[in-house]
Amino acid sequence: PETLDAAMITAWIRHTAELVAADAERLTRLDAAIGDGDHGLNLDRGFTAAVAALPGEPDPPGRTLITAGRALVSKTGGASGPLYGTALRRAGKAFGDATEVDAALLGRALRAAVDGVQELGQAAEGDKTMVDALAPAAAAYETALAAGGDLPSCVRAAAEAAGKGAEATVPMTARKGRASYLGARSAGHLDPGAASTVLILRALADVVGE
Ligand code: ADP
Ligand code: MG
Ligand code: MG
Repeated sequence: PETLDAAMITAWIRHTAELVAADAERLTRLDAAIGDGDHGLNLDRGFTAAVAALPGEPDPPGRTLITAGRALVSKTGGASGPLYGTALRRAGKAFGDATEVDAALLGRALRAAVDGVQELGQAAEGDKTMVDALAPAAAAYETALAAGGDLPSCVRAAAEAAGKGAEATVPMTARKGRASYLGARSAGHLDPGAASTVLILRALADVVGE
């Protein structure tokens, strides 16, 4: 499709919850290596709450993301809850009252989400956090859009860039979050938050399809 409507935004939140539940153990294992071993549990709880908070009849896309973001903030334990909650709420705000989200608007929302995460968490690219997946995703989306890509191809580009960005966190030394307490010993491990960002964007790519 060339636009996302309310039903697709709702489907995205539901599908994210499915992918997070399916990978919760892996996320928790990643977090056990360089954090406190709760990332999968935290996000599973958070996205389950986000799904439960979805209205029976779909609200406008922006409203839905703000509702889901609020549920994430209140139900996800840990650093990742407020960060992902802020991302969804900022994206929802960027959507405004739109009933159909086109490729340009989705790009602005993705950028607003990255900005929100960075304002709250003060992490730069290279600090070994979710920003290392999210920021390249937004940049790749913008590049694909500028090249004339349609909505599905822009989303695909973002999801692929998130995957590469997450892989690139392996050799990094963490400078933010719990993993930073390990200093140089945090190197050699994939950042769990970057890994979960990949799932969230993959869920969007799945929902958008071709
Ligand atoms: P906690 O560390 O509180 O247990 P989680 O395990 O749920 O929280 O989430 C950890 C993830 O959160 C990290 O892998 C990292 O990607 C992300 N994170 C932590 N601090 C920050 C930050 N300041 N900015 C961006 N992302 C962060
Ligand atoms: Mg943790
Ligand atoms: Mg924790």
